[in-house]
Amino acid sequence: MHNLIDGKIISKNLRDKLKNEIDNLKVKLEKAPGLAVVQVGNVAASSVYVKAKTKSATEVGIEVIDHHLPEETTQEELLKVVDKLNLQSNVNGILVQLPLPKHINEQIVLDSIHPDKDADGFHPVNVGKLSIASHNDENLLIPCTPYGCLIMLKELGIDLTGKNAVVIGRSNIVGKPMAQLLLKESCTVTIAHSKTNNIRDVCKKADIIVAAVGKPKMVKGDWIKKDAIVIDVGINRVEVEIEGELKNKLVGDVDFDEASKHALAITPVPGGVGPMTIACLLRNTTIAFKNKEFV
Ligand code: NDP
Repeated sequence: MHNLIDGKIISKNLRDKLKNEIDNLKVKLEKAPGLAVVQVGNVAASSVYVKAKTKSATEVGIEVIDHHLPEETTQEELLKVVDKLNLQSNVNGILVQLPLPKHINEQIVLDSIHPDKDADGFHPVNVGKLSIASHNDENLLIPCTPYGCLIMLKELGIDLTGKNAVVIGRSNIVGKPMAQLLLKESCTVTIAHSKTNNIRDVCKKADIIVAAVGKPKMVKGDWIKKDAIVIDVGINRVEVEIEGELKNKLVGDVDFDEASKHALAITPVPGGVGPMTIACLLRNTTIAFKNKEFV
């Protein structure tokens, strides 16, 4: 028997809490946090994400400043837009939706965002702060997906101290910051990746598994120790046959049906980590606003 960790409910609670906090801040300061959302081009998935982020931000009372730029925007032009937003006083958070068109260097653009307005928490200064801080400080701008995973783990009410945590994936946006967050919770952290030997055996020792790989259903049931907690970050689009027709379906990096037989608690895909990522973006924007107004 397993517990489903419901990202929709946990993210709704976080968004409600933020709305309440922003309502109070508006009364006190007579202004609201502002989030600039920059999209270059028309990649369909990016448009879906931007729409979802804009809707959620508006619902909690964040003012969204939208910059939808054409595909042919040059890197120089984009850097000028970011520079302008860096100086704009009603903008507390800047989000540049990835991926950017191939002719633009993403890292140069991300590095150009002022660290205090870094809504995604990807700037080297914020990555460094996360690495140095000895605990998960409320003022830090932390990458949204891993922080969302941590909130989900904490919701279980289980003491994380000393737990064996295995993070599968070492990307800058998920795997590495996830490992940092778990380390600060005093877990014993292992980061597995594509060159890890005997990954099944590594996972089998884990009390907590966070899978952020991008390989559909890679983590099988016999990789999971009895009563482990499984957080599935993966979002993979696969084709499945339903009633004789090929249809698109979203699956995670974990084989949910198998893993849920062994796990104490597990996140679904969709409806798990995904909604938490957006809620944490709103959280970062609110933190950036408070850092500016009160520090
Ligand atoms: P990346 O492609 O940047 O990183 C994938 C990582 O997985 C790499 O470190 C890679 O190792 C590792 N890996 C690849 N193949 C294997 C393997 N066979 N065994 C073990 N490790 C392997 O992906 P992201 O971190 O950006 O994203 C991971 C997944 O999470 C994707 O499905 C993505 O769509 C999803 N995602 C979901 C979000 C959400 O909101 N729910 C947000 C962000 C991402 P190596 O470094 O050795 O190449």
